[in-house]
Amino acid sequence: MPNVQSLRCKECGRDYPQEPIYVCDFCFGPLEVIYDLDAAAKNMSRDSIQDGPLSMWRYDQLLPASRESAVDIGAGMTPLFKADNLGKELGLNNLWIKNDAANPTHSFKDRVVSVAATKAVEFDFDTIACASTGNLAGATAAHGAKANMNTMVFIPSDLERGKIIGAAIFGSVILVNGNYDDVNRLCSELGDDRRWAFVNINMRPYYSEGSKSIGYELAEQLGWRAPDHIIVPVASGSLFTKVFKGLNEFAKLGIIDSNDSKMHIAQPSGCSPVATALIEGQTHPKPVIPDTIAKSLAIGSPADGFYSVEIANNTGGSATIVPEREIAEGMKLLAETEGIFTETAGGVVISALKRLAKENIIHPDEETVALITGTGLKTLEAIADQVETRTIEPTIGSFDEIVIGSAVT
Ligand SMILES: *Cc1c(COP(=O)(O)O)cnc(C)c1O
Ligand SMILES: [Zn+2]
Repeated sequence: MPNVQSLRCKECGRDYPQEPIYVCDFCFGPLEVIYDLDAAAKNMSRDSIQDGPLSMWRYDQLLPASRESAVDIGAGMTPLFKADNLGKELGLNNLWIKNDAANPTHSFKDRVVSVAATKAVEFDFDTIACASTGNLAGATAAHGAKANMNTMVFIPSDLERGKIIGAAIFGSVILVNGNYDDVNRLCSELGDDRRWAFVNINMRPYYSEGSKSIGYELAEQLGWRAPDHIIVPVASGSLFTKVFKGLNEFAKLGIIDSNDSKMHIAQPSGCSPVATALIEGQTHPKPVIPDTIAKSLAIGSPADGFYSVEIANNTGGSATIVPEREIAEGMKLLAETEGIFTETAGGVVISALKRLAKENIIHPDEETVALITGTGLKTLEAIADQVETRTIEPTIGSFDEIVIGSAVT
């Protein structure tokens, strides 16, 4: 069983029972799950983790839902591999890629939704819903199907086709004429008089805990230690804060010796409120209206922006604003060197990594992990006019003429 102690307000520290609530009644601060770490320590060791299932649920002692009743379509335990080709290109000798595009619906959002859906069943909701920038839509619809729940997925109408169809196959998708922040506001209003589990609104304290499992996996896959650097694509900032929280919990439990990871923010120039705040020395990101091809990162009012800036500063991390035209370049670089086709958010991460290496913010021998959070097959629009193919007639003559004849010798 999980070791949840309470929900606690991140601002004033008031405690609340485990319910489908997300803001503090007194100060409107966000609520976060707090664990009894002594109890967790009794049931959790490197060995017990390794004896667990090959999914994120092997870390169930530090998740706010029960493994036995988990809505589990196989999220987590994605590959972490040494990226020697890309490392050589960038002058990094100790570079790792965490490929979360390998999750069941091809993004890290399966981790957060697996926890939120399990909790939704536990709270006896019959409808699961979300406001999504894209990947959350597919993850919510898929887990809703697995849990036999009604699904209501709300997304901006200008989203990539791969994300719309990839969610609609599982359940009900509603396209909203507006940007993500409009969709999110609509969902908050809808939630006021309907008893629905909105995974990223009233279930947010539980949902966001799912992202910690990336931190746990990094530590386990690196041989039980935290890396020197982690580069994270930031939208609301939830993933960024939770990867760090996961590593901190492992350090507190003695599962790793310490957590000295420097946390680096990566955002596209068309939506960079969090990175801009850090670079300009502000604590609170100023809201922006997003205009970026990295649609999964297009959150203009980032709920966890303040906490992300704080963590990047406290860990000696950094922030990079990636110019829009360098997003596709990052996608191509990862594909050509490591054989991984990432989405636009991954392009942002790889281009940010390139800058950090070039400016010696990351030193060549430091252990560095770049988080790849989604697949390029859902964002074909972003790259379609930048890849080349040739068409021939089904004859040797045509092949010789068009392929061999045009080859540069
Ligand atoms: C949702 C998402 C993120 C970041 O999300 P946060 O809101 O910052 O937790 C990063 N990459 C991809 C591909 C996403 O879908
Ligand atoms: Zn409070």
